[in-house]
Amino acid sequence: MLRGANTYSCSTRQNRGEVVCDCMVTVDAAAAEQAVLDELEDIFCGDGFLDRLVLRVQQRWREARTAQAQQQTSLNVLGNQLTRTEKEIQNLVSVSSSDGTPLTALQVCL
Ligand SMILES: [Zn+2]
Repeated sequence: MLRGANTYSCSTRQNRGEVVCDCMVTVDAAAAEQAVLDELEDIFCGDGFLDRLVLRVQQRWREARTAQAQQQTSLNVLGNQLTRTEKEIQNLVSVSSSDGTPLTALQVCL
């Protein structure tokens, strides 16, 4: 953790005291941050990194769109099945009441 403005030191020692951690190591903050930035620069500005990143993002985007389209298709299929089933129920109800048969439990529920 940052101790003061310019030094990193062990956070356990800083927060819980020297009885819990006797680590005395400190690191100059500016040097540590520069080292991290240098590593990140190597990673992000390295050969082909951005090209690979763009390809990965495009790939994920395509996968997400495909998944969304498949969900929409399933939803449409289910909607069609529901409509057909409702129609079949209506047909069953109208057939049994038009030929004079008594109401069934099914019809009472509907
Ligand atoms: Zn420590």
